[in-house]
Amino acid sequence: MTQPNERPSATMQPRKTIALVAHDNKKDDLLEWADHNQAVLRQHHLCATGTTGRMLADKLGLDVTRLQSGPLGGDLQLGAMIANREIDMLFFFFDPLEAQPHDPDIRALLRIAAVWNIPVATNRATADFLVSSPLMSAAYERLLTDYHDYRTRLEPKI
Ligand code: PGA
Repeated sequence: MTQPNERPSATMQPRKTIALVAHDNKKDDLLEWADHNQAVLRQHHLCATGTTGRMLADKLGLDVTRLQSGPLGGDLQLGAMIANREIDMLFFFFDPLEAQPHDPDIRALLRIAAVWNIPVATNRATADFLVSSPLMSAAYERLLTDYHDYRTRLEPKI
């Protein structure tokens, strides 16, 4: 609930819901990174696109909620979860050198993550900085943009 003039926010609990996605050329990278950071990742609820999730479960024994594979709608599912405030942070190792068949979905996912101000790591160095933050194990009040004026705007005249 927000009072008038109070900035809206979302509370991130110490145990966070973390989304993980890796494009095929980045899956080894994510796997190695996740292996290195297993102890931290195991303290949170993990959620991933289909193939990424299967890989993390099979190779590292991580408990992962699996969505559709990215090209089959997994990125869009994650986007919807972000809009529903069900995802706290996103680790998205995307391939910067190869076009993906689901490029529009990838853009949508990154865009909605920006709309809801969730932390996003799109490469390994940023992922290292995020995962080593003391905020990973603390509650955090994430400020949100106040979209009240946008939601209540008048319909444009045609
Ligand atoms: P995948 O999807 O984990 O099912 O490979 C990732 C993606 O390409 O978005």
